[in-house]
Formats: sequence, C-alpha cells, structure tokens
Amino acid sequence: MKINRDYHVHSILPRTNHAKSSIEEIVLEAIDKGLKEIAISNHGLSHVRYGFRKEYIPQLKAEIKALNKKYPQIKILFGVEANILSLTGETDIEKEILENCDVILCGYHLFVRYKRFTDFFNFVILNWLAKTLGFRKEKQRKINTQAIVEAMNKNKMYLLTHPGRRLIYDIEEIAKAASKNNVLLEINNNCNSLSVEEIKLCEKYDVKYMINSDSHIKDTVGSFEFGLKRAIDAGLNLEKIVNLEQ
Ligand SMILES: [Zn+2]
Ligand SMILES: [Zn+2]
Repeated sequence: MKINRDYHVHSILPRTNHAKSSIEEIVLEAIDKGLKEIAISNHGLSHVRYGFRKEYIPQLKAEIKALNKKYPQIKILFGVEANILSLTGETDIEKEILENCDVILCGYHLFVRYKRFTDFFNFVILNWLAKTLGFRKEKQRKINTQAIVEAMNKNKMYLLTHPGRRLIYDIEEIAKAASKNNVLLEINNNCNSLSVEEIKLCEKYDVKYMINSDSHIKDTVGSFEFGLKRAIDAGLNLEKIVNLEQ
C-alpha cells in the first residue's frame, strides 16, 4: 500500500526558514517515491511567521508551471494551507488565493492575524486556560468547534488539515460539517491528528480522508506510514482514504 498523491508539502519561501527544501527538490523526491501528484501547500497569507505573501504568487505559479513542463511524469499543483481567523469561521482564503491556487487546504494555526481582538483572546488566551487549567473547558469546546464548522460552511476548501490540532473540540460535529460540505479530513502523517480515537468517532459519518505528509523537508515527502497505521488501528474502511493505493 502507498499514497499516490501528497497535497500537504511546504517549500522554501523568501524571508522564512520554515521549510528546508526547494520545490524542485520536492518534485524530484516525489518522482522517486512514485507519486503521481503533489501540491506545494505553504502556510497562507495571514500566518505571521511562515505565511507567503501575495506578491510571491506570480513567482510561485511560474516556478510550478516550469517544473510541470520539465517533469511531465508528475502533476504539480499550487496549493495553500490557509488559516482560520475568527470565531465565526472567517479565513484567509482571499480572492487571490481562490483565483490562483489549484487546491485549497485550511486549518487552525497559532500566530495568525486574527480578525478581531476577541478572536485572539478566545483562540489563544482562553484556550490556553482551558487546556492547562480546565477553565471554561466545555464552553471553549463549543466555541472552537463552531469556528471550524463555520469555516467549512463559509469557505471553499478541499481539505481540513490536522483537524482540531492544538484545540479542544468536538470531532463529531467537525466530521458532520465536513461530510455536508464535501471537505476531506486529513490524516496527518507528521502529527497525531486525526488520532485513532477520532477516526473511530468520524466513522459514523459519511466522510472521506486523505493522508498527507505535512513535509517541511524533501525526505518526508510522500510519507504515510504513521497515518496509515492509525487508520488501520481505528478499523477504518481504507477505501475512504482518497489517495491510498491498495
Ligand atoms: Zn509548517
Ligand atoms: Zn498546519
């Protein structure tokens, strides 16, 4: 068994040292691993530390176009890992992203430009209190879940990355919304989200999954073993994983 597509790969960008490999290095590695398709999905515009800027879009597009010509044996997509920015589900999936990206992933991250002070206060401060001290835990669970659900209801996205990582949330509500909006849930190979327990809970809903490497260096491009093991341990029907070749 192996994955034939990896849609969550970060590349070197100007002004950040977040990822370690160039797009061409990633592509060569992906070809080597027999992938048919790869998406270069860097952190979205509102990520303060690692996000790419709008002015990089033409350059990234041109580079990907040239590499598609140079390596016809693989399809390279221009992706993005967009950010959830508010409690009401606003994101940085802006016009320029919708117009230029071939595939849009979205997830929750810290260090983003939240829309309002209350968003920052809730996502960062109250969540920290809820997680470390158990303060208002159930209320936070509802608020976080609602934010992710609304992000899926309001925005066009292909996949939700590492659903709920770093947050407390209700995975069943997220699975329901993903199913309703036709959004894939990611089984991230780089972190334990979705976990075995979460996959089991999601199974009740008609939802599909994708295992992605979430690589920040070329060597891990196409890695899927940790994600697949969790899917198997959860007893998931593996046909629900859209990029798994059995
Ligand atoms: Zn990253
Ligand atoms: Zn992420």
